[in-house]
Amino acid sequence: MLKLGVVAIQGAVSEHVQSLKLAMARLGLDGDVKLVKKSIDLENVQGVVIPGGESTVMGRVAERTGLLSALRERIENGLPVFGTCAGTILLAKEVRDAKVGKVEQPLIGVMDIKIIRNYYGRQKESFEVDLDIPTLGSKPFRGVFIRAPAIEFVGDNVKILATYDGLPVLVQQDKMLAATFHPELTNDTRIHEFFIKNALS
Ligand code: GLN
Repeated sequence: MLKLGVVAIQGAVSEHVQSLKLAMARLGLDGDVKLVKKSIDLENVQGVVIPGGESTVMGRVAERTGLLSALRERIENGLPVFGTCAGTILLAKEVRDAKVGKVEQPLIGVMDIKIIRNYYGRQKESFEVDLDIPTLGSKPFRGVFIRAPAIEFVGDNVKILATYDGLPVLVQQDKMLAATFHPELTNDTRIHEFFIKNALS
């Protein structure tokens, strides 16, 4: 039986739990999703999602409890991970803020990407747009962006699966997947299914 986890400090946790359950059902897989609050909760999970929310809060709490370093170690050893929005910020090796520039915030720092927080600023703080994601087929994917970051740099080992306005919005590095938008806020589970299939491959 497949066991997946969702980091549950803050943010869009229950939405990801629902999406993962639906994705497993659609793939015909028997599995369960558990909430990851402490490092011990990572035991036996075969993949983990880091949701959107507030990356500074999540990072600081996870650092204090030891979850941040446990995640780093497990992911470096191959644990599949899917970050969305704030989760993607935490996965990045480097982060800066669109307005204030350099920021000091705890990161997991495992993905070879550089990220700009709150990139879209006030006017376009939240928006929705149809994304073309060839890996998922020809049907567009509704991208829900909420105070989204932008990926300004990806390393050679990072695959860009989708872009918006010339910038990567869905990227993959081996078993690590990261989106700057919120697939868990739609009924479309194709990205969660892709994550699960990639985790099991
Ligand atoms: N702006 C948030 C951050 O910097 C991310 C927003 C989100 O996850 N929806 O952490």
